[in-house]
Amino acid sequence: MKSVCESLHRYFNSLTRHRFPFREPFIPTNGLYLLFEKGEKGHGVDRIVRVGTHTGKDQLKKRLKQHFLNENKDRSIFRKNIGRAILNKRNDAFIEFWELNLASRKARQNAGDGVDLILQKGVEEKVSERIRGDFSFVVIPECDKEKRLHLESRIISSVSLCPECKPSRNWLGQWSPKDKIKHSGLWLVNELYKTPFSKKELDTFLKKYRSSNQS
Ligand SMILES: [Zn+2]
Repeated sequence: MKSVCESLHRYFNSLTRHRFPFREPFIPTNGLYLLFEKGEKGHGVDRIVRVGTHTGKDQLKKRLKQHFLNENKDRSIFRKNIGRAILNKRNDAFIEFWELNLASRKARQNAGDGVDLILQKGVEEKVSERIRGDFSFVVIPECDKEKRLHLESRIISSVSLCPECKPSRNWLGQWSPKDKIKHSGLWLVNELYKTPFSKKELDTFLKKYRSSNQS
């Protein structure tokens, strides 16, 4: 019998795959996204390496653009984590500055002076190169915010608790300074190891989304 995690992998691998530059009309307005990464396999298919959604109404496309398009680590924790791993892997002291959040004007005034913005731009470009070149994703539509957050948590927990799909030895996340990323094999630190899908809940989920994808 297939495990919950294997069923999720099979299902998400069967959906239309999107890559940068993705075509917006094919992305729902509200929903969840699941990321895959080059070289990462699990259950004989592409391994899920991140699950995400959005809290604001109609923001799924904006969220995806914050990861793939906009070069600003302070608007995307995913970009920030990819940058942390890139810098840590090459033992780059700039990681100390990469940690600073310069999203607000006040923060820029307080901390921004010490940051070499040319170096920062260079790291942002490396992050973009990596994300655009190595990552692909699928989406499932879901208008209800609470349902989105619930599903996100269940999927993350189901995958993180799975003993079968593990990151490869060369996975970039192995160089993450965040233990949770390194150990879970996911570009995530929240909702790990909580409550996974029950078999029954999984069946209901698959039934609902399989039929909505066919319509
Ligand atoms: Zn698994």
